[in-house]
Amino acid sequence: MKEAMFYDKNGKIILCNLCPHHCKLKNGQTGRCGVRKVLHDKLYSLNYGEISVINVDPIEKKPIVNWMKGSKILSIGSFGCNLHCGFCQNYEISLETPLTVQMKPSEIVDRAIDSGVPSIAYTYNEPTVFYEMMYDVAKLARRQGIKNVMVTNGFIDEKPLMDIIEYIDAINIDLKTYNDDLYKQLGGRTLNDILKTIEIASKRCYVEISLLIVPGISDQLNEMEELFKKLYLINKEFVLHISRYFPVYRYDDPPTDIGIMTEIREKALKYFKNVYLGNVR
Ligand code: SF4
Repeated sequence: MKEAMFYDKNGKIILCNLCPHHCKLKNGQTGRCGVRKVLHDKLYSLNYGEISVINVDPIEKKPIVNWMKGSKILSIGSFGCNLHCGFCQNYEISLETPLTVQMKPSEIVDRAIDSGVPSIAYTYNEPTVFYEMMYDVAKLARRQGIKNVMVTNGFIDEKPLMDIIEYIDAINIDLKTYNDDLYKQLGGRTLNDILKTIEIASKRCYVEISLLIVPGISDQLNEMEELFKKLYLINKEFVLHISRYFPVYRYDDPPTDIGIMTEIREKALKYFKNVYLGNVR
């Protein structure tokens, strides 16, 4: 546990400014992410140093395919998320409380050095909600010449994004859907919150975009094309990953139809030259 960054006090109310939910909390209350709590009139990050997963992965697994190709990356996750998608592929750590081990930032950087990898990824659950840990590790890693990669849903306020991006070399941003109503259904707010993150990040580091194609959430061709047009206006060089959904957690719809996946990829190829299908044999 560590005192959180990015909060204001208004009398007995604490306002968290880390993500666009802007939770207003009183003593004893926890934010919508489940991992930031007010104790004795201060906001704390409950998952600081709590590592639920630590692995060396191929960088392509993040997925990042056109940056540091063929390299391995030390990947860490904690727990918690500021969205609540019923089809979450990592719900055991994003939406539940997993077993963790305590690690200091220096121990994580040492693990990367000992493993001989050139980079560290903040991933598995949403790294925005373990911001303080990510920030401390990324700063230390940069000093040691190790690169940093964030794999995020993009639901973060501008100030914390600007502060962390100074230490981030590459990002994969996971776009969940194409309109505000569906973003609200997933526990978010607006599509623009995410497009703004993509725009800011793409001016400052290397960016790839992921889109999980979930029936009823992100499988409408026309709406997807409108989204591709918006992304194209931000950066026509984006690499896109279009992944197939499989039933998990609260979703039991059958896996996304391969024909729809292919049609969405064809639409994307009108705007971008690097569009990859994921979770498809
Ligand atoms: S990070 Fe958590 S506590 Fe802070 S505004 Fe977002 S959901 Fe609320």
